[in-house]
Amino acid sequence: MAIKEVISQLRESLPNHVQLIAISKTHPAEMIAEAYEAGQRAFGENRPKEMKEKYEALPKDIEWHMIGHLQTNKIKYIAPFVKLIHSIDSDNLLACIDKEAAKHNRVIDVLLEVHLAREESKSGWSADELDTYIASGKFKEYKNIRLRGMMTVGSLTDNMNIVEQEFRTLKQMQERYRDMIGEEFDTVSMGMTSDYELAIECGSNMVRIGSMIFGARDYSK
Ligand SMILES: *Cc1c(COP(=O)(O)O)cnc(C)c1O
Repeated sequence: MAIKEVISQLRESLPNHVQLIAISKTHPAEMIAEAYEAGQRAFGENRPKEMKEKYEALPKDIEWHMIGHLQTNKIKYIAPFVKLIHSIDSDNLLACIDKEAAKHNRVIDVLLEVHLAREESKSGWSADELDTYIASGKFKEYKNIRLRGMMTVGSLTDNMNIVEQEFRTLKQMQERYRDMIGEEFDTVSMGMTSDYELAIECGSNMVRIGSMIFGARDYSK
């Protein structure tokens, strides 16, 4: 199916409270432009330089979402324009983003990424580390950052019971932290091509869908 058709169908099928982030990593600007023509405005990337190049080449009303592990020396590429960083995994990263955001007189919205899957490869805080961090209140020092919610990547498994458990846990964490942080801590970013419907059932309000829209990714280039 063509990109435009998938986008239109997805946008029709998703509940109104769920935002679709089209994950365009590795794909060329031309493919993003096609999704844009179908009305899509929010795109996700995992490499800062690639995001910056696409930002420069494409219409300026696109919202750019950073979904990949972010090295502190690369924040500068995206700080002037990024809409939401989903992948906060340390206090140090928050401190560095706060500094870069201040240089541009911006307040940057971010999500806390938590590692609930059993796989070692996944990045993010452990649930225990994050509990301790939120209780410490240290994030309140950062005036150029707004904590907006939580993100996770579900386990890569056919056993949807495991994935469901992770998604329910993420939603519970978001509700618990919202009571401590404030009403603006309202975003639950979970669900990809293989599990977004389950994620929505479990309380997701932001899904990150790549291969269903753009096809398989080629990492050989
Ligand atoms: C690549 C990626 C996605 C999109 O995955 P698909 O299975 O292609 O939909 C979503 N979230 C993160 C964090 C990713 O790295």
